[in-house]
Amino acid sequence: MVDDKPREYCGLCGVTGGEGVLERLHAGLHSLQHRGQEAAGVMVGNGAECRLHKQPGLVGALFGCLPTAWLDPRFGIARGIGHVRYGTAGGSLAVNAQPLMVNMAGQTVGIAHNGTLCNAGALRRELQAEGALFQTTTDTELILHLMARALLRRCHGNLWEALAEALRQVQGAYSLLLMTADTMVAARDPYGWRPLAIADTSDGSYVVASETIAFGVTGATTLRDVEPGEMVIWDHNNRITSQRFAEAPRHAHCIFEHVYFARPGSRVFGDSVYEVRKAMGRQLAREAPVDADVIVPVPDSGLYAALGFAEQSGIPLDLALSRNHYVGRTFIDPALKASRLQQAGAKLQPIPEAIAGKRVCLIDDSIVRGNTSRSRVGSLRAAGAREVHLRVSCPPHRYGCFFGIDFPERAALFANQVPAGDLCRSLRLDSLHYLSQAGMLSCVKAHPPEDYCCACFDGQYPVRPEGLPDDL
Ligand code: SF4
Repeated sequence: MVDDKPREYCGLCGVTGGEGVLERLHAGLHSLQHRGQEAAGVMVGNGAECRLHKQPGLVGALFGCLPTAWLDPRFGIARGIGHVRYGTAGGSLAVNAQPLMVNMAGQTVGIAHNGTLCNAGALRRELQAEGALFQTTTDTELILHLMARALLRRCHGNLWEALAEALRQVQGAYSLLLMTADTMVAARDPYGWRPLAIADTSDGSYVVASETIAFGVTGATTLRDVEPGEMVIWDHNNRITSQRFAEAPRHAHCIFEHVYFARPGSRVFGDSVYEVRKAMGRQLAREAPVDADVIVPVPDSGLYAALGFAEQSGIPLDLALSRNHYVGRTFIDPALKASRLQQAGAKLQPIPEAIAGKRVCLIDDSIVRGNTSRSRVGSLRAAGAREVHLRVSCPPHRYGCFFGIDFPERAALFANQVPAGDLCRSLRLDSLHYLSQAGMLSCVKAHPPEDYCCACFDGQYPVRPEGLPDDL
């Protein structure tokens, strides 16, 4: 994988009401491109009918070849939902691109999903035993089948009651956008794993997105998060109603959104990602001080932690790793492993003039497999670094994620490959320290530490997912 980093599965953006729905969807989705580059899709409605367009590749390409009928003002787009996808859960098939659009009880319904369900296998077997036919291998389609079943059994044609009934049967992580031709819905699982926030605009539009970075570019102002276990419904007049469809014994916001995934300009789970990342760097400098001449961030994700580390330690920061912005930013196909390895090697190159003869302290946000870190240390030494130290702004990853993040299998995680005492030597470093879990959690302020999921660090899964080994 490029950068030896985990991949987020998806990003969501929905717009209802106001002027320029399509333009806002384009801008909002584009700002969420970092959450998935394999496929993009958008579904729109004009009050009477819906249209869908999705394809492999990036958001710019998707909006560059929309059907011309969409651009005709007479079509009158009034709402829409969009999705960017990195395909691993459910595979990378083109058919798994989202939104999914189906006909349900005479209405066209669309759905876009960020997250992973933990009981998807059991639900799929149960539905197949009842005769359900699946067109995709995604968890998302399960929710549509459960809605259809709820409609048949007891929800008497009320689509959003059927959705609530369906969501009470699924477990795991989901932030969702759904729509019909004349309504839009946002919902979030009761544990609150994945972020989802709402904004409004001065012309009466509402924007819903995975990250608040999507709001500025759409001219919207943040209102609030969709709460865990909440469903927010916009009717045909854009009036909002809200209902709680489920409660959880605790919340489980993904702390790794703050460490790595979310863009620094976003607020997620009530905190500024920029501020949290800098605080993690400051805390790391307090926990693991270093005698070094220069602090060097691993761009881009290590940058803000490095700013905090340099601020706390008083050691100057220098941008001594030069990034080739044209590697890994085009269409990323998860099947092209060889090509991705080449990309990883070509992406960051040390600048000898900034490094030669110096004691270098690298700051990175995580080590997943360790292969990229190892080759980076080698290239710094080759460029003349006298010492190379590494500080990591989260604890070691030792466990898999079942809630929407693509980590390699446990045995492939760097912290599981070699004994704890040998990690530093294995990377050919002069010193290596990770931020402690308590230190990491001390950097988020909006919720208490027990409201965050840290399962990929400590193996404490907030719910027991299907497929979890017996020793956990
Ligand atoms: S296991 Fe890790 S990556 Fe997955 S939701 Fe929990 S904190 Fe986030």
